[in-house]
Amino acid sequence: MERLGTGLLDLLDPDQKAAAQVTDGPVLIIAGPGTGKTRTLIQRLGHLIAECGVPAERCLAITFTRRAADEMGERLRFLLAAAQPEQRDAATGAGATVSTFHALGLSIVREHADRFGLTAGFRIADADEQLDAVGEAAGLPDDETAQARRLLRQLQEFRRTAGRLRADAPGEAAAGRPDPATADTARPEPADDLTDLVKDYTAALRARDLVDLDELVRLPVQLLGKEPALVAAYRQRYTHVFVDEYQDVDDTQYGLLRLLCPPDGNLCAIGDPDQSIYSFRGAEVGYFLRFAADFPTATVVRLTRNYRSTAPILAAAVQAIAPDTLVAGRSLAPARRGAINGARITRYSASSPADEADFVARTIDALVGGSSFHALDSGRVDSREHGPLGGVSFADIAVLYRTDAQAGPIIDALSRSGVPVQKRSHDRLLDRPGVAAIVDELRYATGIDGAIAARVRLTAQVLVGRGDLPDPQLTDADIHTAVELLMPLAARCGADLETFLAELATGAEVDTWDPRADRVTLLTLHASKGLEFPVVFLVGCEDGLLPHRLPGRPPTDEQLAEERRLLFVGITRAKDRLYLSHAARRQRRGDTEPRPVAASPFLAAIDHRLYDRLGDDPEPAKPQARQLRLI
Ligand code: ATP
Ligand code: MG
Repeated sequence: MERLGTGLLDLLDPDQKAAAQVTDGPVLIIAGPGTGKTRTLIQRLGHLIAECGVPAERCLAITFTRRAADEMGERLRFLLAAAQPEQRDAATGAGATVSTFHALGLSIVREHADRFGLTAGFRIADADEQLDAVGEAAGLPDDETAQARRLLRQLQEFRRTAGRLRADAPGEAAAGRPDPATADTARPEPADDLTDLVKDYTAALRARDLVDLDELVRLPVQLLGKEPALVAAYRQRYTHVFVDEYQDVDDTQYGLLRLLCPPDGNLCAIGDPDQSIYSFRGAEVGYFLRFAADFPTATVVRLTRNYRSTAPILAAAVQAIAPDTLVAGRSLAPARRGAINGARITRYSASSPADEADFVARTIDALVGGSSFHALDSGRVDSREHGPLGGVSFADIAVLYRTDAQAGPIIDALSRSGVPVQKRSHDRLLDRPGVAAIVDELRYATGIDGAIAARVRLTAQVLVGRGDLPDPQLTDADIHTAVELLMPLAARCGADLETFLAELATGAEVDTWDPRADRVTLLTLHASKGLEFPVVFLVGCEDGLLPHRLPGRPPTDEQLAEERRLLFVGITRAKDRLYLSHAARRQRRGDTEPRPVAASPFLAAIDHRLYDRLGDDPEPAKPQARQLRLI
């Protein structure tokens, strides 16, 4: 069906093309970072719709974040618009479902609300409503919020692990890991049998016409699990299913996929086991590793050419992951022209987090302003090794860290030097003060006239931090500023109030990040998955932060391996330049003063010849190296 020279797949290399051309049956694309997995998935989707005659509405593509879903939808539309003119009408791609697991779950719950004891007007519980429900279930007095919070965490953990499909899963996954965004908080206690509490909590939610976020995927799995006719109907509706980042599916998501896709169905799963970084949230890389057993007719495709990074960055990444790799015989070769001569990696040894932050600010200044790197640290670095600097925009730069707490000093230093920043946040929009009330107002507004204005106002309110309605009291200037910062959210909501409400409910984070804004992006390693930036600073490469350690709780081998995978994910976000830094002292929560800290032991796996070293290097190897150079 594809026409030579003009097909959508001509934008792919031969291996990617071969992967995209398998249009029947299960396909597993297992490949390292930057090999074009996501690109191949989108081209394959476009190819099926525009060139193979698969109706767009039969296609379901699932991603892990709303942002990834938005981007995929956008790229698909762009692709199809660029398809041959005669195909355009038939293939706008508008009917394809590109969605997160949560949004997909919500749509199924909505279609069958009555089956779950919900009315058509049910809502997703916000954090306070969840606490109320758990408090009621446990018979706690209203002022026992801390206890309710603890119980809710235990309950969530219990639900997660109780649902684990242990029987046939290879290897045990570790449970009870801290959320990375609040990584310094206590880990949930090992779960007791909380079956009764879960039952009462669920009943309390239903009495309020609520479901909680975790139930959005769980409820469809329960319903479909006992209704073969419904399973058949959904399988007919979605004949082609795609899942990006399959290495991070959790038990319930996997359960839903198994129901939606028969063993010989058209499921295209894409991922990289070495980028599995969400096991603390129940992700189970074992599902990826046993794909071929679950879908025995699967075609397995490997991609080995990396289009993202320079050779030194790629070499460092491969060396960093090697001791714990889950991919036997991994091969990852740089495909970019000129990548072989890429700049070496810079490793900066700071005296303190403030010094580290200053280094980031100074370097960004030099990169964007175009001044010579020499000026930053004259005598230590040969600027010829770095290649020309300058010509970089703020939007090209990301600062990655392990825990949110590290962002403070960086933001301070960047603000002092006038560098505009934007931070990806992990808060759920719905949990921001006042937002639930606004959503209710919108929900019960008669008609949706003026809904767009209301949405913009809402967005503005949230962004300027004045979320307490009913009296907005916002000036036009406030709204203008906020709309400029965020607009992407309002724009994504289109004209449909229901969609907007669903966005609010399922959005796992207040993601006001705008990749087009000319600002430096600050984000956690977890949030950086799937993204790429020309310049990446990975700060806090220290023992205790990466790997992350909580006082009194030594990490298990499995947790250490996942921390190493986080470093791998971080390094492989970089296209052209990578800066790894660590401080000699750091004060962490619970410390009375800064304590000496060692560089991350993971860095030892990286060949020192890939680095240029800057700063005060506390390691003994350094003076020796200098002497050698002097000779
Ligand atoms: P990750 O594992 O980090 O999610 P990925 O395998 O999904 O990475 P993509 O994000 O799809 O990789 O691609 C990485 C980069 O390489 C993108 O900028 C993409 O446009 C580019 N790229 C991928 N394939 C090709 C190709 N055949 N020709 C040119 N550029 C390509
Ligand atoms: Mg990807």
